[in-house]
Amino acid sequence: DARVVVIGAGIVGCSLADELTARGWRDVTVLEQGPLPAPGGSTSHAPGLVFATGPSRTLTRFAAYTVEKFTALETDGAPCFSAVGGLEVATTEERWADLHRKARLAASWGIRGTLITPEECARHWPMLNTSLLYGGWFTPDDGIARAVPACRAQLARATARGARVLDRHTVTGIERRDGRVTAVVTDRGTFPADHVVSAAGFWGPVIGAMAGVTVPLLPLAHQYATTAPLPELAVPGGPRPEAVRPLLRFQDRDLYFREHGDRLGIGSYAHRPMPVDPHTVPAFDDAPVMPSSLPFTAEDFAPSWRDATALLPALGGAEVADGFNGVFSFTPDGMPLLGEAAELRGFWLAEAVWVTHSAGAARAVAELMTDGHTTLDLHACDPHRFEGAQRSPAYAAARGARSFIEVYDVVHPLQPPADPRPLRVSPFHDRQRELGAYFLESGGWERPHWYEANAPLAEGLALPPRDAWAARHWSPVVVAEARATRERVGLYDLTPLRRLEVEGPGALAFLQYLMTNQLDREPGTVTYTLLLDTHGGIRSDLTVTRLTEDRFRIGANSGADLVWLRRHAPDGVHVRDLTPGTCGIGVWGPLARDLVQPLTREDFSHPGFGRFRARRTHLGPVPVLAQRVSYVGELGWELYTTADLGRCLWDTLWEAGRGLGAVAAGRGALDALRLEKGFRAWGQDMHTEHDPYEAGLGFAVRPAKGDFLGRAALAGRDSAVRRRLVCLTLDDPAAAVLGGEPVDVGGETVGYVTSAAHGPTVGRCVAHAWLPAAHTAPGTAVHLGYFGERYAATVAAEPLVAPEAARLRR
Ligand code: FAD
Repeated sequence: DARVVVIGAGIVGCSLADELTARGWRDVTVLEQGPLPAPGGSTSHAPGLVFATGPSRTLTRFAAYTVEKFTALETDGAPCFSAVGGLEVATTEERWADLHRKARLAASWGIRGTLITPEECARHWPMLNTSLLYGGWFTPDDGIARAVPACRAQLARATARGARVLDRHTVTGIERRDGRVTAVVTDRGTFPADHVVSAAGFWGPVIGAMAGVTVPLLPLAHQYATTAPLPELAVPGGPRPEAVRPLLRFQDRDLYFREHGDRLGIGSYAHRPMPVDPHTVPAFDDAPVMPSSLPFTAEDFAPSWRDATALLPALGGAEVADGFNGVFSFTPDGMPLLGEAAELRGFWLAEAVWVTHSAGAARAVAELMTDGHTTLDLHACDPHRFEGAQRSPAYAAARGARSFIEVYDVVHPLQPPADPRPLRVSPFHDRQRELGAYFLESGGWERPHWYEANAPLAEGLALPPRDAWAARHWSPVVVAEARATRERVGLYDLTPLRRLEVEGPGALAFLQYLMTNQLDREPGTVTYTLLLDTHGGIRSDLTVTRLTEDRFRIGANSGADLVWLRRHAPDGVHVRDLTPGTCGIGVWGPLARDLVQPLTREDFSHPGFGRFRARRTHLGPVPVLAQRVSYVGELGWELYTTADLGRCLWDTLWEAGRGLGAVAAGRGALDALRLEKGFRAWGQDMHTEHDPYEAGLGFAVRPAKGDFLGRAALAGRDSAVRRRLVCLTLDDPAAAVLGGEPVDVGGETVGYVTSAAHGPTVGRCVAHAWLPAAHTAPGTAVHLGYFGERYAATVAAEPLVAPEAARLRR
C-alpha cells in the first residue's frame, strides 16, 4: 500500500482523506497542527456559501460535485449542505447583460437558473430595494455548505476505512531522497511517506519551502461581518432554521450576504488588498482567536456597510455586531493549484481551493494520485502553468492582489491582467511596438493580437459592427490581417509557443511510447501527434521534427508538456526547454515562397522542400531551422533561430516582404484562419476529457505502430464516438460569438462552443463546438445562446477552407 501523508485537516485535506480511502488507499495519515474539529485554518470560520457557477467549466463542475456530495453527508443528523438557492442581483446595465451571459454559460454546463425581474427578486428577499435593480439570476441548487461538519463527516468515513487523523502535529520538515519525498517531520515524530499532499491552505508556501517547491499563492484577508438580530429576518413561530432565504450576491459592490438565523452575514471584497505573510502567522495557541482570523478593521468595512444599506435599506437601523478579517489563498489567476510538483516526485499540491470547489478538487487530486487520469480537465489548475518569473514572490503578490480585486468583476475572457507587464517579450517586441501592436498576454508573454499599422487595410472591409462585448480586444484589422495572409503573406510571431528538444540514444523509442503518431521516419520530417493519458484523453498536441537519428525538436503547448516528458524520460534521454533562448516567425500565405526563396540558396520549391519537411539553412545572415508547416492552412514555413538573432531575422524577412505586400499579423488573424482550416487549439477545443476520435484527430493515431501510452484505452473507440467537435458557421454574417456559448437543438441545450472568430474567407463567424454525434451531420441547424440573443447556426463540413491544398491541386 502507498503511504500517504496529507498535511492539513481543513475542508480540502478532509475531502482528500475521504476520496483516497474510497479508492482503496488505506495507509493515509492526516497531520494537522491545530485542534480538531476546527483547527484554525480558513475552513474553521468559512461561511460556506456555494455559488456553483464559476469562471470555468471545471470549477463549476467541481462545485456541482461538492453540492452532490455534501447533500448526502450528515453530521449530528443534519445534512452538510442546505440548498437555499442563490440570487445574484444586477444594479448596472453591464452586470445585467453579464448575468444573461453567465446564465447561458451555466446552462451549457448543466446548472439550473432563471433570470428574474426586480419584483421576483423581492419575493425571495423582501428587504431588497428594488428601485436599484435591473433584475436577478436565481439558481435553486446553490446553498450553504456546513464546512466544519463536512470535515467531520468525511474524516469519520476515512478513519472507518483505516485512515489516521492526528491533530496537534505541526509539520516542520519534508525529507527527500533522489528527487522523491520520503517522510514528513513533525514536532511529534517523523512519518515515512511515499506521497505527501500539501492541503495546508494559505500555509502552502511554508510547506512548499520545506520541500523545495514553489507554491505561487498569496494569503489575503477578506472581511466578514455579522449584524445584530434583525426583526425583518425573524420567522414567526417555532425554532428558526439557520437560513431560509437564498444566498444573495451584490457583485456591483463586491458584496455577498447569507442569513445566520435572524442575523445577516455580510462578506466584502471591496476593501484594499490586505496581504498576510504565511511565515509569520501565529500558532493556534498564540493567536487571539484563530490563526486565520485577524481583528476586524471597521474603517475598511464602512463603504461596504453603506452599500449594503443602500441595497437592503432595513439595515439602516441595525449595526455590525461582530466581524473579522479572515485569511485565505489567492493565486495569480484565481485558479487552484492541483497536481504533483515538478520539483519533487510524490509531493502533491491541493492548494488555493474554496469550500465551494473542495470535494471536486479533492476528487481530482485523488484520481490523479491513484490512477493518473481525472474525470475533469485539469489543465487550468496545473501548478506548472506558472513558470520562471511567474513563480517569484513578487509576481504572486502583484497578481494575487489583482485576483482579489477582480473576484466579483465582470471580466472579459480576453482581458489581459494588469501588473506586472510586460513580463516576457520576444526579440521582435520593439518592432512590434513600432507597428502599433495591440498586445494581449499568454503565459506571461506579450503577444500581438493585431497591429494598428495595418488599419488602412481594414478601411474598405465594410464589416458589420460588433456589439460592445464582442468588440472588446478586437478590431476589424484582425480580419484585414487574415485576408492579407490569404491573399499575400503574413509574418506571425511564434515565440510564445513552447519549443523543446529531446535527445539521446533512446529518444525515438521514448517518443514512440509517449505519442500516438508514427515518428520513426527519416530525419528532416515533421509529424503532428498527440500525447494521451492512460485513459486515452488528449493531454496535448505537438509537432515533432526529427532532426537527426537521436535528436528531436518538439513544438509543444505548455510547461505541463515539459514536465510530462521529463517525468517519463529514461536515463540517457535529455529533455531541454529551448523556449526562452529561441524565437520563431511563421511566414504564411501564397507569396511565402517568393518572400523566403531570394534569401537562401537552399531550394524552397514544392518539390525541393515538401510539406512536413524541415531543414537548417541561412536566411540572409541568420541560421534558421525551417519547417514547412502552417497553422493557417496556407503555404509557408515556421522559421526558428536563437533569441540573439531574432531581431535580425525579423528585419531580414520584413525587408524581403516589402515588395510583396507582406504584413505583420497577430494572434487574432491566426485564430480566424486556423478555425476556417479546422485546426484545433489544445486546451480550448479539446483536452483530457476528449479522445482523439471525438476531436476529429484520429488521423494522428497509429495503433498499428506498436504500443503507446493510451493505446489500450482507445481500442474500439473510433467506431463508438458519441460526441464530436464540429465546425459551425453562423447564419447571420453580422452575428459574433466568442466561445463558451451553449448550443441548442430543438430548444434543448446539447453542447457548447469552444472557440470562435470571424472567418475572413467565408465572411461570417466560424466556431468549433462539442455536440452529440446525432446532431453533427453537415447542414444540421442549431442555435447559439449569446447574452439575451439566439443566433441560428449550421453544422459545416470540414475544412471550410483549404487554400494550400486547393492550390497544389491546380
Ligand atoms: P484550511 O482550512 O486553511 O486548512 C489548512 C489546514 O492546514 C489548517 O487547518 C492548518 O492548521 C493546517 N496546517 C497548515 N500548516 C500546517 C503545518 N505546518 N502542520 C500541520 N498542519 C498545518 N469559500 C467558499 O467556498 N465559500 C465562502 O463563502 C467562503 N467564504 C469565506 C469567507 C472568509 C472570511 C474566508 C477567510 C474564506 C472564505 N472562503 C469561502 C474560502 C475558504 O474558506 C477556503 O478557501 C477554504 O476553507 C480553504 O480550505 P483548505 O482546506 O485549503 O485550507
